[in-house]
Amino acid sequence: MSLSEINARIAAVAQAKGRKSDDITLIAVSKVQPAERVQAVLEQGHRIFGENRVQEAQGRWPDFQIQYDGLHLHLIGPLQTNKARTAVEMFGTIHTLDRPKLGKRLADLAQERGESPDVFVQVNTGEEPQKAGCLPSETDAFVSEIRGLDLPLKGLMCIPPVDEEPSLHFALLAKIAERNGLTGLSMGMSSDFETAIALGATHIRVGSAIFGARDYG
Ligand SMILES: *Cc1c(COP(=O)(O)O)cnc(C)c1O
Repeated sequence: MSLSEINARIAAVAQAKGRKSDDITLIAVSKVQPAERVQAVLEQGHRIFGENRVQEAQGRWPDFQIQYDGLHLHLIGPLQTNKARTAVEMFGTIHTLDRPKLGKRLADLAQERGESPDVFVQVNTGEEPQKAGCLPSETDAFVSEIRGLDLPLKGLMCIPPVDEEPSLHFALLAKIAERNGLTGLSMGMSSDFETAIALGATHIRVGSAIFGARDYG
């Protein structure tokens, strides 16, 4: 699917749901994609990208940052505390805050640098043992703990289990966000971004639908 086709689909769902397409941020997830595919999307004018590994992002984005103005990078994969400094230097938004120790580290870095990336709290809505994120039952307490750290908390993020109906997870995330007074919802990927928008997504993370299948070779 081309970028313009995806933007058209975003606009269509937004309109059907009485939402403004400007309120939906399309994050082009470029992880593992060859540089020429990423460059092609940059050439079409897109500036908002997602990566799930700090090291991989570090390998390619500094060069693109020289060539293209106005880039905004989103970290959508797990963040180890010892990579937090590199992460805050590269990313404008971090979607995977899920534990107090990382929150504290990000807050310390924000203090030191006088600026901070926006953050989303990742919620493990499917309560999958192998998946990052805080549990739904622990999210309210964690959100208030993060608020105490004075980080720019924008909302919640989830990655539904692959074999379950994503809409249940999107609805759960929206409910937890609402009762915590959070407006940002990072949810929806290539196969379900329209469902996510219908349920309130403000940030959709779309990879293969834009770039083609990832080759993990
Ligand atoms: C890879 C990834 C995506 C994009 O997945 P696609 O199915 O290729 O759109 C979205 N979110 C996260 C957290 C990812 O790791």
